[in-house]
Amino acid sequence: MNPEIIPIDAQTWRIEDGMVRCYLLAGTDSALLVDTGMTLQNAREIAEGLTDKPVKLLNTHGDPDHIAGNAAFPSFYMHPDEADNYHAFGGGGEIVPVREGDTLDLGGRPLEIIELPGHTPGSIAVLDRSRRALISGDPIQTGRIFMFGPGRDLRQYLNSLRKLQRRTGEFDAIWPAHGAFPVEPAQIAKLALGAERMLAHQVTWEPCDMRGTPLRAYNVGCATFLMSE
Ligand SMILES: [Zn+2]
Repeated sequence: MNPEIIPIDAQTWRIEDGMVRCYLLAGTDSALLVDTGMTLQNAREIAEGLTDKPVKLLNTHGDPDHIAGNAAFPSFYMHPDEADNYHAFGGGGEIVPVREGDTLDLGGRPLEIIELPGHTPGSIAVLDRSRRALISGDPIQTGRIFMFGPGRDLRQYLNSLRKLQRRTGEFDAIWPAHGAFPVEPAQIAKLALGAERMLAHQVTWEPCDMRGTPLRAYNVGCATFLMSE
């Protein structure tokens, strides 16, 4: 499939792979591809066609819609707590672990890792300080947030949102992997309220079928959480 490639600025691109979005960020020394999409086995090639800097890969998490092109990278950045989830979906290669507070510098472009466990155990966001943007992966978005399956934890997710709420002075925009682009930082508080109401059993659900798996769809207004029955 041919993705839609949209420049955000001269050194930043979003790569739209249908339902999911990857990003390419370039500094003066190197470039970082954030996720490899659902169908983009050629994600590395695409990235190398956009920048002349050496391209490294980081995965926000290991779900199958974010790792399609990982095989072209012998090693990549990922949170170590995500290894089981990544391997369960057939992911290979060497994980270079990144954790809370680590900074990757692309050359004049420091990127800070923020842990956001809950959607998956090792979900991370990337704070692009030079652009005052938070690349959030799946936890902060306006679409459907998958909270079913092994390792998903709504309470932990809520704690991650609360932590992030304390840092909203550090970014002006959120660049998520699904749904609208960009998203306002105020979405974090809205999602936290939705998660709180769900934990308090105050949100009604509708049945929904995901490839034969019956799920519950909880529409909290600003997004929809999908949970197991
Ligand atoms: Zn996803």
